Amino acid sequence: MVSAPEPAVLGVAEIPESTVLEVHGLTKHYTVGRWGRQKTVHALSNIDLSVKKGEVLGLVGESGSGKTTFVRTVLLLDRPTAGTIQVNGQEPVPMRPRSRRLREHRRQVQMIFQDPYSSLDPLHTVRYSVGRPLRAFEIVPRHEQKAAIEELLVQVGLVPAGDFLRRYPHQLSGGQRQRVGVARALAAHPSVLLADEPTSMLDVSIRLSIMNLLLELRSSESLSLVFVTHDLAGAYYMSDRIAIMYAGHLLEVGPASEVMGNPRHPYTQLLREAAPDPEGDFGRETQFEARGDPPDLTALPSGCPFAPRCPLARRECEVALPEWREVGPEHRVRCVLYGAGGTPAIGQSLTHGGRDA
Ligand code: ADP
Ligand code: MG
Repeated sequence: MVSAPEPAVLGVAEIPESTVLEVHGLTKHYTVGRWGRQKTVHALSNIDLSVKKGEVLGLVGESGSGKTTFVRTVLLLDRPTAGTIQVNGQEPVPMRPRSRRLREHRRQVQMIFQDPYSSLDPLHTVRYSVGRPLRAFEIVPRHEQKAAIEELLVQVGLVPAGDFLRRYPHQLSGGQRQRVGVARALAAHPSVLLADEPTSMLDVSIRLSIMNLLLELRSSESLSLVFVTHDLAGAYYMSDRIAIMYAGHLLEVGPASEVMGNPRHPYTQLLREAAPDPEGDFGRETQFEARGDPPDLTALPSGCPFAPRCPLARRECEVALPEWREVGPEHRVRCVLYGAGGTPAIGQSLTHGGRDA
């Protein structure tokens, strides 16, 4: 079989100017268990991903697929086992504690947390929480801080801002707390926001308003956003491009309309099958189901991590991790079903599923 070459690895100097975040070979292992019985959790395996200026990238994967680990390592809250993270084409950030570059990295890359109830300090007012990055990163002089905080609150729709300054988290609704979280992230003047399932703990009725707030901010502030979710339909609503994650591996990356409308990886096809499609925009052609158990991250197979559950798996899938194949503009997939050039291999029907289709 002829394989497509791996996409070129971009060196520091070659990163296009519009690239805000570039992650290369990002890997994170955790060691668990008692001495003598330790196991390695392969939470993140060799992730290559970039985010452009003003772009929303949806990162989709089921629970335990490594999404939060990705966010934490990109923020360098957790030390990567391997790989590099670059922001605005700068040199990869060293992990030395208290280094100026690490501090600058933590300003440029901000996070919005999944749980708005635990991410705000209950003992501090909104004014204190939103003002904290302003002070820590010396964004504005002290006498301008109150005005800057009010401006941030207006930006996230907490008006009149004066009413919110002295409130404590328990005096806010879930949606308002999440807005404070967004204001606090914006206060640092970041280049990229990583939002880790920012609406999954909110009432359905306010989810959309938070999603729309993030979309407005990306337009008005030309912010880049990584929108992490387990929900493919939500990612489609939010994103320009979607990356599909399974067991710590990326399996497919492409324009949102392609990943949703013409998913290539069998796993993405299953996700789409499960995604709500109230408008009926996307046909339901996939007819297979994943079999077997969810992956054990302490004993991943050497081949495709999805192979043990994939109805279209061949023997070669269990041997080695497939290479990336280009299947369209900015659309790549890690699956042997696509030969060099991205065409489905002979004898395989992808959309109708099953070996005999
Ligand atoms: P997701 O956010 O997609 O649900 P996570 O990134 O939280 O997934 O977790 C990925 C895997 O890594 C899970 O199996 C989880 O148990 C494991 N994991 C995450 N953090 C740690 C940790 N600090 N120590 C050990 N295992 C961890
Ligand atoms: Mg998570």
